[in-house]
Amino acid sequence: MNVLVINCGSSSLKYQLLDMSTEEVLAKGLAERIGNEGAVLTHEAPGQEKVKFEEPMETHKEALNILMAALVDPSHGVLKSLEEISAIGHRVLHAGEYYSDSIIIDADVIEKTELCNEMGPLHNPANLIGIRACQELLPKVPQVAVFDTAFHQSLPPEAYMYALPYEIYEKHHVRKYGFHGTSHKFVSLAAGDVMGKDINGLKLISCHLGNGASLCAIKNGKAIDTSMGLTPLAGLVMGTRCGDIDPAIVPFLVNKGYGVEEMDTIMNKKSGILGVSGVSSDFRDVEEAANGGNKRAQLALDIFYYRVRITIGAYVAAMDGVDGIIFTAGLGENSITSRQIICDGLTYLGISLDPVANSKRGEAMIISDKNSKTTVMVIPTNEELMIARDTLSLVK
Ligand code: ADP
Repeated sequence: MNVLVINCGSSSLKYQLLDMSTEEVLAKGLAERIGNEGAVLTHEAPGQEKVKFEEPMETHKEALNILMAALVDPSHGVLKSLEEISAIGHRVLHAGEYYSDSIIIDADVIEKTELCNEMGPLHNPANLIGIRACQELLPKVPQVAVFDTAFHQSLPPEAYMYALPYEIYEKHHVRKYGFHGTSHKFVSLAAGDVMGKDINGLKLISCHLGNGASLCAIKNGKAIDTSMGLTPLAGLVMGTRCGDIDPAIVPFLVNKGYGVEEMDTIMNKKSGILGVSGVSSDFRDVEEAANGGNKRAQLALDIFYYRVRITIGAYVAAMDGVDGIIFTAGLGENSITSRQIICDGLTYLGISLDPVANSKRGEAMIISDKNSKTTVMVIPTNEELMIARDTLSLVK
């Protein structure tokens, strides 16, 4: 059974086609600059050269048309016909309180997702465009929505409620939702295998550290707290996002003449590692600058590590202990130094890393040593595979 995984951004479309009998990736690609000049779709199948399609793509539907033609192309295609696609799984950002799991898409799911557009204004409308375009192009193929918020719907009220007047929650649904749910779910399930233990009975902290970053406390396989909030701006310091700040800073600066939109842009696009270091939003550049003696780059990293460490501490308190800590995503999977520095401050958990294991990259493994009381792991995330698995389980 082949599952096509689609992730639509406002001007982009990422895809992967997986053969679910082996979970092998048959083809993948990315369309960029949709609706703009210079639109391009890059298509790749293992063992073949990348193919680039530089064609006008006014809408996501045109990008989908190009990718579907690429999938069945006689020279670089991987399918004989589009009928070999059994289901489509869509990554969808925000499901509000409507869905706590993935779901087969029907008119009601589309309506509910649309109601969440204002909470995910950059992503949800684009996700819906992708869903509608796929419905038009492949009307007989079942489609599934896999929401980034769904895994966090198991949070208890004391974790997801903000202490604002209760009617703000009732009227405007303002609460913590959390994101990266598909990634936290994937790595926590894999952690059970890596530790050789049933996930029921485990207390895990998943650290998704990429350009966007969030932590999740997972007890018995269920999320019980997470660091992002109503939007992905909350929690940790990120590439360009400030994470948690005193909320009074916003009216304070607005009173000084900053516009509300401007504040939003500053906090989402100009803050974080980029804002403090003044160097880059990419951790590699900032690590390099810090190693070269740049003090602001070092400060940016120090704030980042500190925030990760104190959030781990908070989640140990939330679960009354921890059995395993997982590092994942770009930085978590690749930055040996970051993992070392974060864990150096966790000796109270009886953590000691195995320097040889911690120097490896790219595979799921334990990086703590045999004497470590808490297991520390690196688990490469695979959101596409999680989406494909959820999709398969619903359409089988
Ligand atoms: P996102 O999916 O949120 O865009 P990723 O999970 O791809 O982000 O992570 C991107 C981040 O990971 C970048 O800031 C990048 O610098 C960092 N990263 C990737 N490889 C390394 C590495 N070897 N050392 C340090 N940071 C790395």
